[in-house]
Amino acid sequence: MSKIKSVYAREILDSRGNPTIETTIWSDTNHGAVASIPSGASTGRLEAVELRDNDPARFDGMGVLKACASVNQIISKYIIGQDPLKQNNIDQILLNLDGTVNKSKLGANAILSVSQACFELGAACSEMPTFEYAVQKYGLGTPSALHLPTPIFNMINGGKHGAGNLDFQEYHCIPSSRKKFSDALEMGSELYHLLKKVLTEKKAIHSVGDEGGFAPNLFSNTDAIELLVEMIESSKYKLNEDVYLGLDLAASSFYKGNKYTISDVKESLSGQQLGDFLIDLVHKYSLLSVEDPFEQDSWDDWSNFTGSVGKQLMVVGDDLLVTNRIRLQEAIKKGACNAVLIKPNQIGTISETVSVIKLARQNEMSIIVSHRSGDTDEDFLADFAVGIGADFVKFGAPGRGERVAKYNRILFIQEYLESLNPQ
Ligand code: PEP
Ligand code: MG
Repeated sequence: MSKIKSVYAREILDSRGNPTIETTIWSDTNHGAVASIPSGASTGRLEAVELRDNDPARFDGMGVLKACASVNQIISKYIIGQDPLKQNNIDQILLNLDGTVNKSKLGANAILSVSQACFELGAACSEMPTFEYAVQKYGLGTPSALHLPTPIFNMINGGKHGAGNLDFQEYHCIPSSRKKFSDALEMGSELYHLLKKVLTEKKAIHSVGDEGGFAPNLFSNTDAIELLVEMIESSKYKLNEDVYLGLDLAASSFYKGNKYTISDVKESLSGQQLGDFLIDLVHKYSLLSVEDPFEQDSWDDWSNFTGSVGKQLMVVGDDLLVTNRIRLQEAIKKGACNAVLIKPNQIGTISETVSVIKLARQNEMSIIVSHRSGDTDEDFLADFAVGIGADFVKFGAPGRGERVAKYNRILFIQEYLESLNPQ
């Protein structure tokens, strides 16, 4: 049995240039692992708490030295000497040490950095790639080179990730799940470059947003969808055959006083009216998925929408569920959605994340493993997604280092699996 010998956390920068935590862990067998933690911008109300220093003298208050101290001064004492293969034990120690419902004492960022690093160390000590270790540990998936998660590419960034003029947060191109991962990635890259060309020709290009998708100057959310249609129609791929469209509205971010304000319509909309507007979009564009169509506590609107169109598309709960088992139980009871976005840092430990995945699977919901808008070059999520048999991964645009680190890792896994079973 190997034992954890040392744990050390430090402050690094994420893709937005904000501080985040990175934890390094070693075993007495001289295996090591490093885990860095991402950070959201459109966060759910019930997400586990990301501990920040709030010291205006450093990084405008965004420093994470307190979270690092949680690891270096408190957690390390209890984790050193533990068996890194016993993930449930380790996560239970972390939960007990924190003792709060939302991990506000030690910080979910501190806790997850240790939980995730232990998981990676467990894989290293078992001399296995991390994805294989997850397969063996949880028995949730049997990946093969032809059955890897389908990428959801975020091509246009609006909402809190964009330039300010689009209300919806993400406009997705989703390759057909029949495509091999490498072909899907090739398609994503080609469409991304074609979109840049189309936007440049229209003089609509602005810059890229937080997740690497373009953040153009457009009038309405429907314009952005139309642009994707136009771009795909000028490509060698067929819309709704080779590639599908999807949206993440992150609707809590444009919800005020019980109404939704979007640039497509003059009057602010009630939940029912937004639902009708979205159902038209679903039919007109044969959307494959719609994430966070309503704000996070409007259960009735969610249930009505899923009741109407849930058989045709994925209705994805992100801010609604915050990777939380209790919220997922509620959503199942209410028929509020049929797909779950999985973000480990919304809940704070690997074991709790896996418990949400298991519950979703038992209820035949689709699983989408997701990055955050502030991320690092960490590729753990790629292994995790493959290892737990995710249907989809959402890692942003097929551009920018912190996004392609994860897509490229799945490419590596595909080739690794092919080499085990050469045709
Ligand atoms: C999302 O809303 O799906 C997302 C990835 O954004 P953030 O990380 O800002 O929550
Ligand atoms: Mg979302």
